[in-house]
Amino acid sequence: MVLSKKAKQISPSLTLDITAKAKKMKAEGIDVIGFGAGEPDFNTPRNIQDVAIKAIKEGKNRYTATSGIIELKQAIIQKLKKDNNLTYISSQIIVSTGAKQCLANVFQTILNPGDEVLIGVPYWVSYPELVKLADGEPVYVETEEINNFKLTTKNLNKSLTAKCKAIVLNSPSNPTGTVYSKAELIEIAEFAKVNNLFIISDEIYEKLLYGNNTHTSIASLSEDAYNRTIVINGVSKAYAMTGWRIGYAAASAEIVALMSNIQSHTTSNPNSIAQYASVEALNGNQDDMVKMIEQFKLRRDYMVERINNINNLSCMKPEGAFYVMVNISNVLNKTIEGKVIKGSLDFSDLLLAKEKVAVIPGVAFGVDNFIRLSYATSMENIKNGLDRIAKFVEHI
Ligand code: PMP
Repeated sequence: MVLSKKAKQISPSLTLDITAKAKKMKAEGIDVIGFGAGEPDFNTPRNIQDVAIKAIKEGKNRYTATSGIIELKQAIIQKLKKDNNLTYISSQIIVSTGAKQCLANVFQTILNPGDEVLIGVPYWVSYPELVKLADGEPVYVETEEINNFKLTTKNLNKSLTAKCKAIVLNSPSNPTGTVYSKAELIEIAEFAKVNNLFIISDEIYEKLLYGNNTHTSIASLSEDAYNRTIVINGVSKAYAMTGWRIGYAAASAEIVALMSNIQSHTTSNPNSIAQYASVEALNGNQDDMVKMIEQFKLRRDYMVERINNINNLSCMKPEGAFYVMVNISNVLNKTIEGKVIKGSLDFSDLLLAKEKVAVIPGVAFGVDNFIRLSYATSMENIKNGLDRIAKFVEHI
């Protein structure tokens, strides 16, 4: 039987693949240090857990409205107003099974076959595949490390074609940790206006900012930007709730209605208990989140300094999220025990085999001369893992 051509052209998630390999080695008793994590290594705060337990006991076990319970939509509306100065009504909000499902719904809602979507490189692994699943074509926009991998009008114009329908913006970014300033966002909003593009603004790492960085939602910059932007956010990263699977989107009522129609036939409502818990995440005490961010900052500072002290490795200081992109250009095409390191996959494979350290090869994000390290792991692991990476690189 001939299986779906569309399904066959979707790449498996390399990040999940390597994390699984490292987990398997750990289960076999091998002392592996993992820098692959795409999720906080903290527990969901107690106040959120308690509300979920209460919801179970109160019998909140039924289907809810496809696009989410009204209490959660109200909490999201308040959050978007308070944090982002954005005004929405409930018909403009949809709650989904993670921000990932929101993104899947968006691409299916706005794209027709052959429509193109501008995606900056390095990109989060799922953007291109989600575009392809919706019969669209990803168009990759090159960026420069020296400019913190930012999309600019100059590099966007180079990639723009007549078929472009949308641009994906991710600030703070996975995998680079890059945060766009208001002035830079104004430039991108203007580019979208001139070229009549939707803006898909993935703001899932909004709360994970360090130093003096602040988050601006591009949708808040003007009426035009508001109308063409689909804001994506969720509770996964800020509240250590990745497994609960709650994300949300805000956009025009017309777009949200189509997203909701799609969702009504694929998954229906997101988990009811997790929705009640998310109301508490957004409305409740935020102290645990603040403490988590303090820990991330300490780890980031340590990691960046250590990496830049290892000969032949370097990295920029990320301003948000919990990842560091390490430039490995200087060790490419060199050999280790007779094996040539041709790209990031060879580097990662050899590092895992020799020093038992798992990292994500940059090729997963479209850049083969980088690896991504996550600092969503304990300081002890970070210290130990960087000792091993330093040892590995010394032998190249
Ligand atoms: N966007 C980005 C940039 C992400 O890194 C992730 C999670 N890895 C998501 C969206 C999806 O998050 P969720 O858990 O809410 O589906």
